[in-house]
Amino acid sequence: MLPRLVRVSYTLSTNVCGSNAIFCSNHKVTSVTEVFVSPSLGLAHPVWTERFPWLCQGCTTRSVDGAVYDFGLFSGGSSTESVKENWSTLLGATGANSMVHGHQVHGTKIYTHHTVSAGLNIFPDCDGHVTDSSGVLLSVTTADCVPIFLVDADRRAIAVLHAGWRGIASGILDCGITALKEYSGSCPVDLMMHLGPSICGACYEVGAEVFEALEQPIPLRPSPINLRGVLTQKADEAGIPLTNITVSDHCTRCTESDLFSHRAGDMGRQVSYIGLRP
Ligand SMILES: [Zn+2]
Repeated sequence: MLPRLVRVSYTLSTNVCGSNAIFCSNHKVTSVTEVFVSPSLGLAHPVWTERFPWLCQGCTTRSVDGAVYDFGLFSGGSSTESVKENWSTLLGATGANSMVHGHQVHGTKIYTHHTVSAGLNIFPDCDGHVTDSSGVLLSVTTADCVPIFLVDADRRAIAVLHAGWRGIASGILDCGITALKEYSGSCPVDLMMHLGPSICGACYEVGAEVFEALEQPIPLRPSPINLRGVLTQKADEAGIPLTNITVSDHCTRCTESDLFSHRAGDMGRQVSYIGLRP
């Protein structure tokens, strides 16, 4: 399916899933529907796949051939053995030499990776990864939170970040942008950003404390908030051109996307991954 342009406004309201129509500015942000690549690789960005053939990017789905495809090493869902097997399957399918992942804590710690051991490497207490080395697959797992993909195509530098409301409030996006700047000299204006499959604005009702933490107008009662809309606003403020931003119209809860949703009671996690092809 071709991406479609969605005009957004500053209205903070319940989002109709797929429209992503929430407070960016009067610019256009492109909403995209990821395309299914294969059972083991899952969904990929339809434009980046064409435009950046040197990039390996995607988000897995909830099942493969009827079997649970769970990547949650710390979420208490599937057995550790089956989860590790799924990681091996994904690594083999991508052709990458190594993969990095972290014990995610809704913080802002980001690791930069140059040389990495073969296979799956787990890092303590972090929510983002950066590299400019080919063959290293960066990953975050989610089940409603937003996976943020950042690409500097000229410098071939990339990042992936895990963003729930706490991480967004703490500045995970700015930290990712800074990490790319320090590691590869990437300027925000040069970055492409994709906000992958996550819970949509209509499905994510939260209390006033979340609106306050995210510096949004505080409602009188629990109300829905669109985390991808908030992130788009923050990216705009950080200097990433809105024309460089795309937003997935998959919702982990309300679209028929075969994705794990924490709010829907799932213990499993999909993995969002990005790497420079070896
Ligand atoms: Zn939804």
